[in-house]
Amino acid sequence: MATANKKTNLLGLSQGDLEQFLVARSEKPFRARQIMQWIYQRDVDDFDAMTDLSKSLRAELKNDAEIVPPEVQARHDSKDGCVKWLFSSGSGQAVETVFIPEADRGTLCISSQVGCALDCAFCATGAQGFNRNLTSAEIIGQVRHAIHELPRRDNGESAITNIVFMGMGEPLANYRNVVPVLELLVSDWSYGMSRRRVTVSSSGIVPHIDKLADDCNVALAVSLHAPNDELRDQIVPINKLHPIDTLLDSCWKYAAKRSNRFITFEYVMLRGVNDSLAHANQLASLLKNKPAKVNLIPFNPFPGTEFKRSSLDTIRHFQERLRERGLVATTRKTRGDDIDAACGQLAGKVRDRVKNRLGQKNPGQKRKNENINENKDMRISSV
Ligand code: SAH
Ligand code: SF4
Repeated sequence: MATANKKTNLLGLSQGDLEQFLVARSEKPFRARQIMQWIYQRDVDDFDAMTDLSKSLRAELKNDAEIVPPEVQARHDSKDGCVKWLFSSGSGQAVETVFIPEADRGTLCISSQVGCALDCAFCATGAQGFNRNLTSAEIIGQVRHAIHELPRRDNGESAITNIVFMGMGEPLANYRNVVPVLELLVSDWSYGMSRRRVTVSSSGIVPHIDKLADDCNVALAVSLHAPNDELRDQIVPINKLHPIDTLLDSCWKYAAKRSNRFITFEYVMLRGVNDSLAHANQLASLLKNKPAKVNLIPFNPFPGTEFKRSSLDTIRHFQERLRERGLVATTRKTRGDDIDAACGQLAGKVRDRVKNRLGQKNPGQKRKNENINENKDMRISSV
């Protein structure tokens, strides 16, 4: 009995994989570059419209391949110009993408997983648990859709000048699918962005930071959030596996491979938890004379959280102390409040979570002391 031919989704394939797909069909590898230009630069889904490909190749593509973007469930526009999209990720689940316009740039914040297994104590995504990794098509599809919908800037360029992996999920726990996307973002045959304008944000999966330095060394942001292991163990549990000194060693090696470009250290300001001047002094000692800058993030509350945002005065004093101690420190503006699009509030819809090892379906705060062993953990993809 004849079985239906399973088509390959070309969206999200790396240039190398696309070349292999073509060579297997006796085509020249350079056809991959033409197809990439059609998909990403000209926003075309229809193989018949790819007029610089031969008729026979187009027919073969129609038979064996498809271009399937993630399905858009909803769009919300904020009063301050931010836009949030919900993309369906199957079985009633969704992930979120946010566009944040500023005078001199437009930043797109994208998601890499449905939920997150790392369970940082102050994060709405983490509180929901983990369901699955997004595919490369689902990740690059967020960018392609946003480019498609957003009006261009006055100079004709895309509204999106910067991309940050700061939406739902831990990008370095989905290494296998994230790296092809990074390659597409910086490839001249696709979006051709500068590596400085693509930022991977990670809570510190050290072996994958080391590997990323060699594979695709885009800008790196590290979610530090605490200046000592005792506190970081509690609020960023992956710290038990990769403590601060190991994490920072890996960061400095990463920076060295990028001509010592700065690493951004994110630090969420939690009232009475990590926001004292003693914490600021400790943080300054950790990062002094290193290629580091600190971005303070006022905590964004979400239903059910026990944490509170530090006062504006506390945040200002903390920032001043870091500056007095010689660090570059900024405070992130909270945007998109009215559409729940602020950092850490992206909850999307995560269902059917994979149970953690304690067998709890809703781990929340209870998991603080759980042992995490990423190598044995199928929730963190191998490389
Ligand atoms: N998993 C990655 C990227 C996604 S989170 C990471 O942790 O880096 C992006 C940033 O938002 C991280 O610095 C994260 O710690 C921060 N964040 C999470 N929850 C937050 C909240 N409720 N308020 C403010 N920032 C938050
Ligand atoms: Fe995951 Fe990042 Fe949230 Fe931590 S802060 S739970 S790593 S998404």
